[in-house]
Amino acid sequence: MKILLTAEQLAEGISRLAQRVRDDVGRRPITVVGVLTGSIVLVSDLIRRLEGPVRVSMVWASSYRGATTTPGRLELRLDLLPDLAGQEVLLVDDIFDTGRTMEALVKELRCRGAKQVRSLVLLRKQGRSEVEIKPDFVGFDIPDAFAVGYGLDYNGAWRHLPYLAELEPADIHEERDSQIDSDGDSGT
Ligand code: 5GP
Ligand code: MG
Repeated sequence: MKILLTAEQLAEGISRLAQRVRDDVGRRPITVVGVLTGSIVLVSDLIRRLEGPVRVSMVWASSYRGATTTPGRLELRLDLLPDLAGQEVLLVDDIFDTGRTMEALVKELRCRGAKQVRSLVLLRKQGRSEVEIKPDFVGFDIPDAFAVGYGLDYNGAWRHLPYLAELEPADIHEERDSQIDSDGDSGT
C-alpha cells in the first residue's frame, strides 16, 4: 500500500476544515449529518473542533458491493434522521468521487425542510465528478485511485488505519486471503 496522507497530514486537514466551518457558521446551531460508514472517523474528529451547538446524526449510503472498487447502484437509508425543518445542516462524507452520493443526499436533506445544506468531504478525486454540485468544503484533492484507511474500506477491511493509503493489486490479494470480512459493505 502506498501512503497518500499521513495521520499528521490528516489531522492538519481536519483542523483547516473545522476552521472554515467555524468561520462560516459562527456560533449558530448546526446539525452534522455523517454518511455511514466511511465518515465515522472524520465526523468524530471534526465535531470535536467545532464551536456552538452541534447535533450529530447519521445516514447510510452505499454504491459499492463487496469486493469491488467501481461504483454500482446507489442505495440510501435515511431513517435515523431527526426533524430537520428550519435547520442548518452540514453533510459530511469521506470522499467525493462521481458526486452522485452527495447530490442525492443534498436533495433529500432539502426535501426534509433543512434551511441550508452545506457539504463537506475529506477527499475529492480529481477528474471524476459527474454532477453539477460541488462540495462546499474539501480537505484534500487526491489522484484517481482507490483509497483506504481513516474510515474508508475495501470490502470491510482497512477502515481502522490511522493514515490514508492507495490500494494496490497485491493488497487486494492479501485481503482476499485473510477473509477478514465477508459482509460486503465496501464503499459505505
Ligand atoms: P460517489 O457517489 O461520489 O461516486 O462516491 C462516494 C462514495 O463512494 C463515498 O462515500 C465512498 O463510500 C465511496 N468511494 C468512492 N471512492 C472511494 C475510494 O477510493 N475508496 C473507498 N473506500 N470508497 C470510495
Ligand atoms: Mg460512502
